[in-house]
Amino acid sequence: MQIHALTTGVVRLKRAFLFAREGWRRQLDLFLPDEWCEPVPIHCWAIEHAGRITLVDTGETADVRDVPFARFEVSTAEELPAALAAIGRSPADVDTVVLTHMHGDHMDGAVHTRGPVLVHDEELAFARTRQARVMQRILRQPVPASVAFQGMTLSDGPFGAFGRSRALSDDGRIVVVDTPGHTPGHVSVICIDDDGRHIMLAGDATDTVEQLRALRADAVGPKTAVSIATMRTILVHAREHPTVYLPSHDRESVARLGDVMTL
Ligand SMILES: [Zn+2]
Repeated sequence: MQIHALTTGVVRLKRAFLFAREGWRRQLDLFLPDEWCEPVPIHCWAIEHAGRITLVDTGETADVRDVPFARFEVSTAEELPAALAAIGRSPADVDTVVLTHMHGDHMDGAVHTRGPVLVHDEELAFARTRQARVMQRILRQPVPASVAFQGMTLSDGPFGAFGRSRALSDDGRIVVVDTPGHTPGHVSVICIDDDGRHIMLAGDATDTVEQLRALRADAVGPKTAVSIATMRTILVHAREHPTVYLPSHDRESVARLGDVMTL
């Protein structure tokens, strides 16, 4: 098994996004003037295993619009096709595409893929609610109309500390697990590599390891208690299995891909 980090540009986030307060100012602060942090990467991941390529998230595209708490720097030369070309692949080589959640920086690049894009069915249902559609319109972050999203049920029972899962490979070494919080149907993908390590492609379950250890909910998740419960589950899982934790926007994720980290 080989796991490649792909990068589709960077994003600058407000401090209130990365270091959200507790209480009623958590979400309000996103819309107030604030300091901007150094740019963080917009990663997605390509897993080569058993002669197949699985893509976890698809990155951002150049026509993304900024939102009050995020400024994107993505050129067409950084979109998914170029990121795959950097590892000698093209979108046509990809066998399976799965999204951690339906935010633009994870799904917009799906316009470059063919075939169905797997999404947790609860995430797909949430993205189609009136509440979510209003936010998509206010933030000018539409769900790409040309992409064929396909709902996926996490019907394979518990996996490690996670209550629900779904295997994506026949040998069970690529597994989707439920990590709700950042969005209601957010998932992560755990790959059991050739050394038995659990490489956890964590999407936006947290943005950094520091945030995970601090059990600090982010500013955008609808229910902080759900986010914190997920963080506790990840930490329990990492105690029971050698885990490499790789959030999508962590500057350290690429370096950590080579290391075992004990949480
Ligand atoms: Zn993201």
